[in-house]
Amino acid sequence: MLATQIKKLFNERGCQDIFVPKSKDYDLVEMKAVKKLYRDAKPDIVIHLAARVGGIGANRANPGKFFYDNLMMGVQMMEMGRQAGIEKFVAIGTICAYPKFTPVPFKEDDLWNGYPEETNAPYGLAKKMLLLQAQAYRQQYGFNAIHLLPVNLYGPRDSFDLESSHVIPALIRKCIDVKSLPQSSNPKRPIITVWGTGKPTREFLYVEDCAEAIVLAAERYNKPDPINIGAGFEISIKDLVELIAKLVGFGDKIIWDNSKSDGQPKRMLDTSRAEKEFGFKAKTLFKDGLKKTIEWYISNKQLK
Ligand code: GDP
Repeated sequence: MLATQIKKLFNERGCQDIFVPKSKDYDLVEMKAVKKLYRDAKPDIVIHLAARVGGIGANRANPGKFFYDNLMMGVQMMEMGRQAGIEKFVAIGTICAYPKFTPVPFKEDDLWNGYPEETNAPYGLAKKMLLLQAQAYRQQYGFNAIHLLPVNLYGPRDSFDLESSHVIPALIRKCIDVKSLPQSSNPKRPIITVWGTGKPTREFLYVEDCAEAIVLAAERYNKPDPINIGAGFEISIKDLVELIAKLVGFGDKIIWDNSKSDGQPKRMLDTSRAEKEFGFKAKTLFKDGLKKTIEWYISNKQLK
């Protein structure tokens, strides 16, 4: 969902020559595919969005794959970019790289003060190595690699798979699908089951805002320090469930499944560095972004 939006923004700025590789054509976990990509695309700038990602369910089911694929894709893409002599490499990291108990709002300077939350540590640490690689390559080779740390993204075209998606698409799907069940399979009041205790907090960034941040950073930011990319607010999962239920008109029963993990206890970024360094501030109101995501799901749910 992010690549399409980034391409659109670059096109609007007059940059037409953009190569968006598909994973079925270039499996970037394999070095030979990475080499082929550089031969085919001959890029000046690389924006490394490719990632093996998902919500808590996906992270718990695939810690090995998430570690290996994310590390290998990123490390190889940056190394070949250096060898190819590209002008700039923009690595997209993750908020999952932060220590589990980082004080809110998370400041970039707190990034190395502890171990990440266990369920997403393999993913978070694999991505975090790209920060180290960027800094080491800048130091040794003068290579212009930067590292961005976005919060949880949401928006149209997200994955709505109930086992592996993130919380927003999962909740939208649960609330909407239960309403369209035939009466016979749902004889009593409709019920949805949500995960954990509802106590953790999260920050969410609309996909179009994230694309804007990435494009601004690609244009204007050329330093070794990582930069948080967020929307600057915090909401508890309990409040999020209530908000989504209200927006889709689900007024029935919600059960909390405490056997599922809560994940990181609190998450919210200090976004002042992005504003100072390249003038990024998220524009989309959370409710508006949610409404657009809900509308997209309703229009496209037959495809899911
Ligand atoms: P995280 O932000 O990386 O921890 O990943 P998620 O988006 O999967 O989960 C965020 C929070 O939402 C966690 O506290 C989950 O326990 C909670 N949550 C509540 N219901 C659901 C659900 O149906 N799916 C998911 N993925 N998370 C849920």
